[in-house]
Amino acid sequence: LTFLQNLPKAELHAHLNGCIPIHVLQELASERAVSSDTSISNEIVQKGIERLKAGVVLKEIHDFFGLFPAIYALTSNPSALARATRAVLAQFLDGVPSQAAYLELRSTPRETPDMSRLQYIQTVLDEVERYPPERAALIVSVDRRMREEVARDCVECAVRLRKEGRRVVGVDLCGDPLAGEMSTFEQCFRLAKEAGLGVTLHIAETRENTIDDTLKLLSFSPDRLGHATFLGAAEQDFVRNTNTCVEICLTSNLLCKTVETLGDHHIRYYLKYDHPVCICVGSLPVSPSMNLIFVDGTQTDDTLPFRNSLLGEYALLMAAPPFGLGLSEAEITRIAQMGMDSRFKSPS
Ligand code: IMP
Repeated sequence: LTFLQNLPKAELHAHLNGCIPIHVLQELASERAVSSDTSISNEIVQKGIERLKAGVVLKEIHDFFGLFPAIYALTSNPSALARATRAVLAQFLDGVPSQAAYLELRSTPRETPDMSRLQYIQTVLDEVERYPPERAALIVSVDRRMREEVARDCVECAVRLRKEGRRVVGVDLCGDPLAGEMSTFEQCFRLAKEAGLGVTLHIAETRENTIDDTLKLLSFSPDRLGHATFLGAAEQDFVRNTNTCVEICLTSNLLCKTVETLGDHHIRYYLKYDHPVCICVGSLPVSPSMNLIFVDGTQTDDTLPFRNSLLGEYALLMAAPPFGLGLSEAEITRIAQMGMDSRFKSPS
């Protein structure tokens, strides 16, 4: 493991609310239980936490999005959001050696009774900026379910903060892969590009994503793509010709069942062409039925050390098939470097 631990790795796809350590969620839940917040019942929140704690078995990717309302109830005011953000940053960046040399954390701004979308982003940024620019930055996510004016507000906040010299480096499109009409977001992403923000888009995450959806997203000239699991041959060629980095979340894809085995994973296509990829955790409630694999190919059901772990994702590159991809140290070093090279630019 020493080789993997010491390798400088970039995490470029971490969804804030998908990466909060379970003990922090539990603390926030018990504090909330004695507060007067009634936006969503304590019972529902508690059930959500218990589900996460026990380990989540998802039948399909759409089940995954049902996990978030309970988490959102716990991060709906600035102080809870700041605590959750601090814990996520520490999880990736603290410790020697740290999981990640560099983290681009992403999050979807939410308007709640206690904060505006702008305050949401500022709260997260305050925590991100406790680290030096070479270690952490923020991507503002837009959700596919958003109305145009809400998406626009998110991007305008991102642009405004960037202009003020705050460390917003990009915008993202995420959320339920089948929701929304992509032309809704055309102006938003144009605005982001004009302001010098990087653009990353979740794309072709499920088999049901239509070619129109994919082509529209590619027309936004993204700098990076999330997942890109079900691109057709012509779109894969386009991605290769434009040298667009693909953010790869191995465990998350297996957990959400968009990829059946690592042997079938689309990363193999990109590796064959030495195309830029970045290995990422993404968003990862760990299932006990999906034991993670040590580098030597043995399985462990001790998932805690690998919960939300970038190291665990890299271990999958190294482990022998069928548990991993069986790549050499030289190949893994090259992949880690591609991730570092695909970082968005900080404001100068
Ligand atoms: P947040 O943006 O910090 O609130 O992180 C959670 C959100 O990230 C979820 O509500 C989803 O919209 C989004 N998300 C997390 N994982 C995925 C994924 O695999 N595909 C698309 N969206 C995702």
